[in-house]
Amino acid sequence: MTQVRDLTAAQAADAVRDGKLSATELFDAYRDAAAADELNAYLYVAEEPNVSGGDLHGVPLAVKDLFCTKGVISQSGSKILEGYKPPYTATVVENLEKAGAPLLGKTNQDEFAMGSSNENSAFGPVQNPWDRERVPGGSSGGSAAAVAAGTAPWALGTDTGGSIRQPAAMCGIVGLKPTYGAVSRFGMIAFASSLDQAGPLTRDVTDAALLLGHMVSKDPCDATSIGRPDEIALPRSHKLDGIRLGRPDDLSTEGVEPGVMEAYERTLKLAEDLGATIETCHLPHADHGISAYYVIAPAEASSNLARFDGVRYGLRSNGGDLLSMYTHTRHDGFGAEVKRRIMLGTYALSSGYYDAYYGRAQRVRTLIATDFKQAFENVDFVVTPTAPTTAFKIGELADDPLAMYLNDYFTVPMSLAGIPAISIPNGLSDGRPTGFQLAGPAFSESRILDAAYALEQAIGFDGSETRK
Ligand code: GLN
Repeated sequence: MTQVRDLTAAQAADAVRDGKLSATELFDAYRDAAAADELNAYLYVAEEPNVSGGDLHGVPLAVKDLFCTKGVISQSGSKILEGYKPPYTATVVENLEKAGAPLLGKTNQDEFAMGSSNENSAFGPVQNPWDRERVPGGSSGGSAAAVAAGTAPWALGTDTGGSIRQPAAMCGIVGLKPTYGAVSRFGMIAFASSLDQAGPLTRDVTDAALLLGHMVSKDPCDATSIGRPDEIALPRSHKLDGIRLGRPDDLSTEGVEPGVMEAYERTLKLAEDLGATIETCHLPHADHGISAYYVIAPAEASSNLARFDGVRYGLRSNGGDLLSMYTHTRHDGFGAEVKRRIMLGTYALSSGYYDAYYGRAQRVRTLIATDFKQAFENVDFVVTPTAPTTAFKIGELADDPLAMYLNDYFTVPMSLAGIPAISIPNGLSDGRPTGFQLAGPAFSESRILDAAYALEQAIGFDGSETRK
C-alpha cells in the first residue's frame, strides 16, 4: 500500500476521480497505517469512512482532538474531557465531510492547545518522525507528525499563536493559519477566542490550497466568521516577478539556531533568483508580541475554561459540597500548564490589574496590527524563519516555560494582527526540518499560496524519508 500513501492528497483525489484508485482502497491504506502509528499521534482511528464522493473524492482527513466530532471522542488533549463525545460536529469538519473528506482519526495535541511541544497532552507526548527522541512541535503536534509520517494524507490543526506553523516547520510539512474569521470556530473547543483559527497541515502547498478552499465559510453559528470574498485557486506560479519580500529589521535573531538562519538566508537568495526583491521592513512593536500574547491568551483561556466544572462535561471528582466538587474536578482534570494559564489569566483580569495588564496588552496588539498594515504598504509579504529552533528533545524545555514560550517569537505577531501566514519546509539544519514563514495582509491567502508554491518548487524539499 506504500504506493497509495506516496500520493499527495490532491493526487489521490485525482486518482479516485479518474478511476485509478478506489476510495475504499485509499481509506483502508490510511486506516491501517494510522492504526499502526508508533508516534502516539492518534487518540482515535475510524474504522470505516463516514462519507464519500464530493470534490475531495474520499481522501481521508486527520483532525486535531479539539474539533468536536459527533459521537467521536473530542477531548482537546485533556483529562477533564476524557472520553467526551459531543452531540454535534464542528462546522469546518462538517464542511470538509460534505466536500468528501471522511474522518480518519483524531490527533493528539497539547492540552487545550496550550504548548509548543505536545508534551502537555494528558495522553502522552508525540514523537517527531524525523527523530523519535524529539518533539513534533505543538500544539497541533499529532496532526503534524501524522502527515509527516505518511499515516494521514492531510490534517486539520488550529493556530492561536503558532500551533499550526511551528509543528509544520518542525516536522517538515506545510502549515497555514488563515485570516482570523476566514474559517468558522463553531465546534472548536476554545482556547483564546480572539486568536483561535483552524487551518491545514499538508505535505505540500497545493494540498493546503485544496483543503483551505473547502474549509472556509460564513457560519451563522460563529458571529466572527466572515468566509471569503474570493475562491482559493490552486497555486501555479513558478516565478516571483515583482514580488517584494519584507525582512523585518526589528525582530531579534538572537537565539535563532545558526542552521535555521542559514536556511532562511538561502531561501531569500532563491527568491531573488525567482524575480523577487528583498526589502527591509519595520515592525517596531512585534518584539513585544510574546509579552502581549501571554497576557491576552491566558486571560481568554481563564474565561473559556470556566465551563469545565464537573457538571456539564467529562470528569467529575467527588467532594463534599458543590464548591469542593468544582475544586476537586479542576484540580484532578487540568494539567500543570493549563493551571498556570488559568492563574495568569485570572490575575491579569482581576479588578485593579485589568487595565495594567489586559488593557495594555490589547493596546500593544493594536500597535502590532498597525505595524503590519504599514509594512504592507511597501512590501507584499513579511518573511521570517517560522521557529527559532528545530525540534528539541522531549523533556529538554519541560521545566522552562519561558524558553518554551519564546518558540512562538516569529509566529505570535501575525496571530495578534489576525493576518494569514504559511510555513513551508525550508531544508534541514543538523538533519532536522526548518520552516520559512510568509505572512500577508488579511485575506491574501491565494497570493501567499502562490508565492509559497513558487518557493516550494525552487527549494525542492523532499519529505519522503519519514513516510514509510
Ligand atoms: N505555543 C503557543 C501557546 O502555548 C501557541 C499555541 C497555539 O497556537 N495554540 O500558547
